Amino acid sequence: MPTPPLHLDTPLFRTPAAYSASNAPLWLKLDALQPAGSFKLRGVGKLCQHEVENGAREIFCASGGNAGIAAAYAGRALGVPVTIVVPETTSEEVRQSIEATGATVLIHGSVFDEANAYAVKIAEERKAAYVHPFDHPLLWEGHGTLIDEVVAKGASFDCVIASVGGGGLLAGIVAGLKRNGLSHVPVIAVETEGAASFHASIAAGERITLPAITSIANSLGARQIAQHVFDLPKHHPIESVTVTDAEAVAACLKFADTYRILVEPACGAALAVADAHPDILARFSNPLIEVCGGIGVSLEKLKVWKEQML
Ligand SMILES: *Cc1c(COP(=O)(O)O)cnc(C)c1O
Repeated sequence: MPTPPLHLDTPLFRTPAAYSASNAPLWLKLDALQPAGSFKLRGVGKLCQHEVENGAREIFCASGGNAGIAAAYAGRALGVPVTIVVPETTSEEVRQSIEATGATVLIHGSVFDEANAYAVKIAEERKAAYVHPFDHPLLWEGHGTLIDEVVAKGASFDCVIASVGGGGLLAGIVAGLKRNGLSHVPVIAVETEGAASFHASIAAGERITLPAITSIANSLGARQIAQHVFDLPKHHPIESVTVTDAEAVAACLKFADTYRILVEPACGAALAVADAHPDILARFSNPLIEVCGGIGVSLEKLKVWKEQML
């Protein structure tokens, strides 16, 4: 018997047509309701489970964001200790929120890349599981379960809208579509201006490293996408679009008021497409939006962003 997955089968909502400027109903896949607050548990849970079944006795991860929170949750569920390596620049608030999950925080290096390299190195030395936030085939396989669930519910959809950071979610959606015989269904890949490493790479025809991230959507703030993700548009229809931070925040506020659930601007970006790009949605009858969630949000943060941008 395979062990059951750590993530939940999340609800699928249908909005009224009047919900967005696209003026058509939208399917919303509510991954904000995953135990670790975002879709990340799908892939991270799968990867950690695989490693522990194959003998790993601890887990290392280098993300102070939702991937780290998902790894901490997975470790607790699997009964193995988790260490999150973060760079010196990580705020006290983030360190405390990681420690509150029961994971150990290790501070190493001045930037993410240094913290990540260190996590890889000690995981290797100690035969521990190492969890990359977006670049691993098992992560993609796990993220793809969101498509399995929508298909199992019998919902028909003719495009998927999802936000892109390093591209693990996008790769997972493409994998999920493929294994359900839906390789013809296009994906609208959304980034905020200032975190658009996928958009820039597609435009340039080569993998671009952004000099800096200037968007508040920090879960989308991978300066460079994975090579696998750069190659995806060669074998799957993918359209890259951007929205502004203000559009993402407005979408978070509207979603909170309507469904009484808070999501990060990284997730607001995907929700914003129906208002910011109604022309794109007009080509489809049944868009599906991945409501990816995220813990980097609070009533207070939304209020500040609203005052700053709207
Ligand atoms: C990680 C994350 C993303 C981006 O996912 P990638 O796999 O890095 O592309 C988007 N939204 C939220 C809330 C996330 O946690």
